Amino acid sequence: MEAAAEAAYPEEFCALLLGRSLPDGGWRLEDYRPAANVHPQPRRHFELDPAVHIATLRELRQNRDGKERGLCLLGHIHSHPDAKAEPSATDLSMAHDPEMLWLILSVRRGKAEHLTAWRPPNPQNPDRFAPVRLKSDKR
Ligand SMILES: [Zn+2]
Repeated sequence: MEAAAEAAYPEEFCALLLGRSLPDGGWRLEDYRPAANVHPQPRRHFELDPAVHIATLRELRQNRDGKERGLCLLGHIHSHPDAKAEPSATDLSMAHDPEMLWLILSVRRGKAEHLTAWRPPNPQNPDRFAPVRLKSDKR
């Protein structure tokens, strides 16, 4: 995804995140589906291509009984070109679904920098995103 975000620079990259929930309450990212950023101002904002969203949900439904059983939509990622990997005021205004995981990747001068993860505001925590710790088993 880092390469895709660097390729999209200076526009914001966005994609849907697929994975599965773990028994300990965590989750594991297994795959992603890049989506065109269809926002009219793609350098400052993002809007996932709704056609990719629909196609991904359909794909997951069809997989339900197959070998990729259990794979679900975890959330999405977008990049922040030349800005911090922290949710913006616009992000806050867009965070309607408390179940969605938000990943934000900062890209400085075309190079992927920091990846952060967030949970949207919820009734216990209504006014801001809560940071989520990322673990990687690849490093
Ligand atoms: Zn943002």
